[in-house]
Amino acid sequence: MGTTRTGGVRRRRRLARAVAAAAVLVGTAVPLALPTAAAAVPQPDSHSDSAASPAVADPAEKAALLLERRVRQRERVLRSITVRAANYEEVKEDEAHRLAVLAYTGPLADVTHVLPLAGYRLSATYGLAGPHWEHDHTGLDFAAPLGTTLVAVGDGVVTSVADSGAYGLRTIITLRDGTEVWYCHQLSAEVEPGDEVKVGQPVGALGSTGNSTGPHLHLEVRPPGIGPVDPMSWLEALELAP
Ligand SMILES: [Zn+2]
Repeated sequence: MGTTRTGGVRRRRRLARAVAAAAVLVGTAVPLALPTAAAAVPQPDSHSDSAASPAVADPAEKAALLLERRVRQRERVLRSITVRAANYEEVKEDEAHRLAVLAYTGPLADVTHVLPLAGYRLSATYGLAGPHWEHDHTGLDFAAPLGTTLVAVGDGVVTSVADSGAYGLRTIITLRDGTEVWYCHQLSAEVEPGDEVKVGQPVGALGSTGNSTGPHLHLEVRPPGIGPVDPMSWLEALELAP
């Protein structure tokens, strides 16, 4: 900058002298550190910070204000945690009710399987032969209102969602042990192949697509390496009574 060290010192001394002279002239004690425009000119506004700003010059008060602000922040966090804790009990109750509707009765933490829907009437069992089926009936039929929510009977992965001829819109969930659970005649699907699903999670809506005479879920259960088994026996083995 071309300013030597001694030159800077000299200039500061000159400035100090000028300030002192000005103080004598106006007859007041002017601090050497010139006040900022904001602090010197009273601001008419009542901005929330303005009340505190003249005080922040004092480091102790500044620290106190900072501490106070932190305490208020912590209090806000604590309040939100308290609200969440209160809601948690409610959420748990809702969850217990939802699972109870899906035939689950044990402790909430132990739920592994539930029925695929609530509010149904069994309309056809496994192994039946009849005019509607070319072969023996390979699933269990749950008749329920169109649009009834279908849920994952257990934790697993969605391995197919597709229009499947006589089965209509079909979702296949492959459970952890490799068992395939087929949800047939769906109105709509809520999951996509590759999705991980948790027990009780909605997967789609009950419909009447494909070879179907009315809204119902045709549920098929296919353990790995075996053909379809009786879903009723399979569910009963899991202590679920459809
Ligand atoms: Zn069926």
